[in-house]
Amino acid sequence: MHIEVTRDVLTAIRAEAEQAHPQECCGILLWAGGRVARIITARNVHPAPETHFEIDPQALIDAHRDERAGGPAIAGYYHSHPNGRSGLSAQDRRNGAGDGKLWLVIAGDTVTIWEDGPDGFTSVSYQVIER
Ligand SMILES: [Zn+2]
Repeated sequence: MHIEVTRDVLTAIRAEAEQAHPQECCGILLWAGGRVARIITARNVHPAPETHFEIDPQALIDAHRDERAGGPAIAGYYHSHPNGRSGLSAQDRRNGAGDGKLWLVIAGDTVTIWEDGPDGFTSVSYQVIER
């Protein structure tokens, strides 16, 4: 799978990750014009936010409701790894739902994207576009 992500999205996620440090930030990725071009920031409601994330369920409910009402489609989710380890953790892999959504992980300057498919996560290549 290959996708396009806007530079604005990556800049926003990077800033949020830095602000949340040493906790993990998290949120929702949205499609716009066939690209990942918008995000919804969400609270990390996990009780151990320095090593885990759980997107505020209300943010997910709201995003799904908007999608059903004709709003932007949910592309997937993002979170940060304050420990700097790029890619998915073992815990992330266990948490996959197999629903085809994208998972974006930011660790320092490294951004990786994965597809949460029925047979597990697979790496997604991406191109950063200016708009
Ligand atoms: Zn993770």
